[in-house]
Amino acid sequence: PSSGTVGTSYLGTVNDRERLLEIGTGKHRQLPDEPAAALILAAAAAHPDRIAIWHRDREVSYRELASLVHRFRAALADAAVAPGDVVAIRLPRGPEWIAAVIAVLDHRAVYLPLEVGGPADRQRDLIARAGAVLIVDEAFADKVGGAAALAPAPGRGPVPAPQDRESPAYVYYTSGSTGLPKGAVCSHAGLLNHLYAKVDDCALTENDVVLQATQATFDISLWQFAAPLLTGAHVVVLDHQDLMDVPTMLRILQRRGVTVAQFVPSYLDVLLTHLLAKPDEVQLLSQLRCVSVTGEAISKDLVTRFFRALPGRTLINAYGATEASDDTNHEILTQPPAGPTVMIGRPLGNVTVYVLDAADRLALPGAVGEIVFSGICVGVGYLGDPARTAAAFADDPIRPGERIYRSGDFGRWRADGVLEFHGRRDHQVKISGIRLELGEIEHWMRATDGIRAAAVVTVPSGNTKQLAAFVVADPGVMIDVPAWRAELSRRLPRGAVPTTITFVDDLPLNNNGKVDRVALAARARQQA
Ligand code: ADP
Repeated sequence: PSSGTVGTSYLGTVNDRERLLEIGTGKHRQLPDEPAAALILAAAAAHPDRIAIWHRDREVSYRELASLVHRFRAALADAAVAPGDVVAIRLPRGPEWIAAVIAVLDHRAVYLPLEVGGPADRQRDLIARAGAVLIVDEAFADKVGGAAALAPAPGRGPVPAPQDRESPAYVYYTSGSTGLPKGAVCSHAGLLNHLYAKVDDCALTENDVVLQATQATFDISLWQFAAPLLTGAHVVVLDHQDLMDVPTMLRILQRRGVTVAQFVPSYLDVLLTHLLAKPDEVQLLSQLRCVSVTGEAISKDLVTRFFRALPGRTLINAYGATEASDDTNHEILTQPPAGPTVMIGRPLGNVTVYVLDAADRLALPGAVGEIVFSGICVGVGYLGDPARTAAAFADDPIRPGERIYRSGDFGRWRADGVLEFHGRRDHQVKISGIRLELGEIEHWMRATDGIRAAAVVTVPSGNTKQLAAFVVADPGVMIDVPAWRAELSRRLPRGAVPTTITFVDDLPLNNNGKVDRVALAARARQQA
C-alpha cells in the first residue's frame, strides 16, 4: 500500500475491542414507539395555535398543518395507496410539500422525492424503477387543498395496519455520477433516531426557528422540517433564489428570527465572505445560535472564519450518508479546532460507527480504515437492486446479528473517540502503479493555513495520468507554492503532490452543492 490509508493495526485484546466499541457507540437514547409522523401530529395537537411553517409571507399554524396532513392522508386512501407503496412527491418546497411528506409517512407509504422541473426522462425512469403508485404533484395538491370542507378528523383518519419500525419510510436516489442512480431506502426507526439526534445536538425546543433551505431531493431536507416539527418549533422555508441572494436571505433570517440553520460548506463560505466584508450585517443574524454544516469535508480555515464572523455560536460538522439515515456523527464546535483539521465528531445517539481495516477488523485509534455504520441507522438497502445492496450492506462482522453499511469513506479515531475523515475510497487512483487517495491529498492541502477548499482530479498524460489540484485560498493570502509543495511532500506518499496547482475563486458545484469533479476534470483536461 503506498498511500498508507488502509489501517494495519488491529485489535488484539478484549480490552481493545471493548474500548473501540465504546468509543464507536453513541449514547443510548430511548426512542418513542410511534413513528415520526405520528409524533409530529401529536405535537400539532399540543400546540395548535403556534406557527408551524412560514413560507413567502404565509404562516401556517400547527392546526392548519394537521388539517392539511389529514386531507393528504384522505386523498392517499382515496387513491388506494397501501402501506409499503412508493408515493412520489413532486411539489415546490412549502407547507403543502411538508404536509404531503408527513401524510405519506403517516400512511406508511414510502416517500420518493422528485425535483419540480427536473429532467423528465430521468424522473420517468426513477418512477418506473421505484414502482411508484402515485405522483403527488401540484395538480393533486390543488385538489387536496380545495377539499377544505373536509373536516380534520378529530383523532386520525383510517390508520393502516401497523408495521414494525424497520419498515421503509423513504427512498432517495443518489445522483449517480457513474452508472444508474441507486435508490437508498431507510426505515422509520432510522429516520426517527436521526431526528432526535438533531433535536438533542441542536438543542431544539419549541422556541426555535429552523431554516429549511435544501432541495427536496437531498436527504438533509427532511430533518430541516421534521425535527423542529417534533418539538413544536417553527420552520422557515426559504426558496432557492432567496438563499442564493445573500442579502435577501439575511433579511429573511432576521425578520423571522431564525435560530438554527444548515448549509453545505461552499454556501457557508459565500455567506462568511459576505459577513466578513460587511460586518454590520452580522447583527441581522442576532438570533442565529447554531449552524450545521454537512455533505463535504470542511477546512479549518472555514471554521476559523465562521467563529470570526459569528462569535459565540455553535457550529456542528455533521457527517453521514444517505444510506445510513443521513448523519451518523456530529462534531459540535464552539471555537476553531486546535489541530490542523476539522474532525467529524462522535457517533449520534444509538448509532455505532466502526473503523475497519482491510480484513474487517476494528482499527485502533490513529490507524486509517473504512468508516462503517452499524445498528439502527443502517438503511434497508437499494430499492430493487440486490447486487448493489449486497455490495454495500452486510452482516455485522463485529456484532453478529446486526447489519452494517460500508460508507466507502476512510477515517481514523482520535484516542478520545472523535472521528477524523480521510477522504473517499472511490477517489482512489493509480498513477504509474502507485495507489493514491485523492481524499488524502485534499485532506492535507485543506489543512494548510489560508486554504479554504481543495479538490484534486486526474488528467490523462501520455500513457499515464497526472494530478491536478484546484484550490481556493483566502483573498489576499499569498501561498508560497514551492514551499507548500515541499511541505506536502513531507506528508504525502511519493507522486501524490499534484503536478498542477490552480488557484480559483470558487470550486464548481453539483446540484447538491458538492464539488463537481466531472467539471473540474474537464477543466484540467483543457489546461493540460
Ligand atoms: P449526506 O446526505 O449525509 O451528505 P450523501 O449520501 O449525499 O450524504 O453523501 C455522503 C458522503 O458525503 C459521505 O460518505 C462523505 O464522503 C461525504 N460527507 C458527508 N458529510 C461530510 C462531512 N461532514 N465531512 C466530510 N465528508 C462528508
